[in-house]
Amino acid sequence: MRHYFHGGIHPSDGTDKLLSNQKPIRIYNPKTVEISMKQSPGSVCEAIVKMGDRVSKGDLIGTPKSFGGANIHAGISGTVIDIKKHPDSSYKNVEIIVIESDDYNDNNEDAIYSARNYEERIIDLSKYTKDIIIAKMKDGGLTGLGGAGFPSHIKYETKEPIEYILINAAECEPYLTCDHMLMMEHGYAIVNGILLFIKASGSKKAIICLEDNKQDVAKVLESIIADKELPIEIKILPTRYPQGGERQLVEAVLGMEVPAGKLPASIGVIINNVGTAKALADIVLGDEPLISRVVTVTGKVKEQGNFLEPIGTRYSELIELAGGYTTTKSRLIGGGPMTGSVLQTGGNHEELTGSVLKISSGLIVLEDTPKDESPCIRCGECERVCPAGLAPFKIDFAAIEDDIKLCDKLYATECISCGSCSYVCPAKRELAYRITEAKTEIYRTRWQ
Ligand code: SF4
Ligand code: SF4
Repeated sequence: MRHYFHGGIHPSDGTDKLLSNQKPIRIYNPKTVEISMKQSPGSVCEAIVKMGDRVSKGDLIGTPKSFGGANIHAGISGTVIDIKKHPDSSYKNVEIIVIESDDYNDNNEDAIYSARNYEERIIDLSKYTKDIIIAKMKDGGLTGLGGAGFPSHIKYETKEPIEYILINAAECEPYLTCDHMLMMEHGYAIVNGILLFIKASGSKKAIICLEDNKQDVAKVLESIIADKELPIEIKILPTRYPQGGERQLVEAVLGMEVPAGKLPASIGVIINNVGTAKALADIVLGDEPLISRVVTVTGKVKEQGNFLEPIGTRYSELIELAGGYTTTKSRLIGGGPMTGSVLQTGGNHEELTGSVLKISSGLIVLEDTPKDESPCIRCGECERVCPAGLAPFKIDFAAIEDDIKLCDKLYATECISCGSCSYVCPAKRELAYRITEAKTEIYRTRWQ
């Protein structure tokens, strides 16, 4: 039976994805990496190396200071040449470890990927128990690669009985194709990673959730799964944003609802991004912690594409690799255009600060067009498309009045920050931004 999630939009015709998914993933080996000790919004780590230390690729360099953090490792071998402080998006100083390679080869054009055995066949996983896999997730610094960057081992330490693993391969945001290309090129590693997720959870099966704009991926993965009759199913979903939202995926695939304020595990479901499955295979079967990822660099740059590089690669170098901006009115978004954050408007890419995080899925360059808000005309469009079933215009009014209690009563905390309301609003109101801010303020007051 086919299920649908509430609301949703069609923000693109798919041509934006063609900009970057027609070429193989390019490998980039930087000379220097700048690794942030805050890899996701809820996590802060502490540097355990000091200036002048020599580190090898994969060495532990940062450990969590708070719940929600995950180990951080060196993405290249070299020397720690600086430990600087830099303000993050909430203007708090975060430590950045700068490592310079001491055996640097700048011939990136010749860089080729060397596939390991688990990237070419299904591996016998009988020696890996649930406890071993979860311990390796923790040691290897595994976090979700698709969104919030929550540590994976915490999800798998749940006491709830898990029936289904959903693999989020929808990649429903416009422009992003890093997951698409990863699945095309690393199918075996992904499938081995999914089998490890099944063992770590005690579930009987996993479902890979794809949108119907990725039929090529479905063919690749089906041929791998059918070969060994693995407990993995592929589910093709209609292309619709935000199909990849956790609650929306559960509703669309299983016809179940995650109760408000609860995690999917409360109804027997764990959801992982497809990139996280590949990273788990690298950790457990390749003995390599989470030190690299694929990033889509696209939009108004000369050579759009997907790049595999170490965590900590400078954004400025990735834009340079893609040939630089092709517009003087650039707006650079980190992540997808619907949920990402603005990293730079106008200016030159050489002036960019910041580097690739575990959660960095894309660098999208758009034309910076002015957004003049006008008063709400009560058309109800934002309410119609909201996948969380909220009334965004009402929460927006309350947020503007600084009435945080009313925002809470209107369930602002259920907002998934998908941006659908802002996208459809004819008055160009910054609904998602203000509702997300209100949500943060509600949590802040609750925790005080
Ligand atoms: S209120 Fe939140 S969940 Fe609803 S459409 Fe807007 S951003 Fe998405
Ligand atoms: S879509 Fe915009 S104009 Fe329409 S009700 Fe919502 S906030 Fe008001």
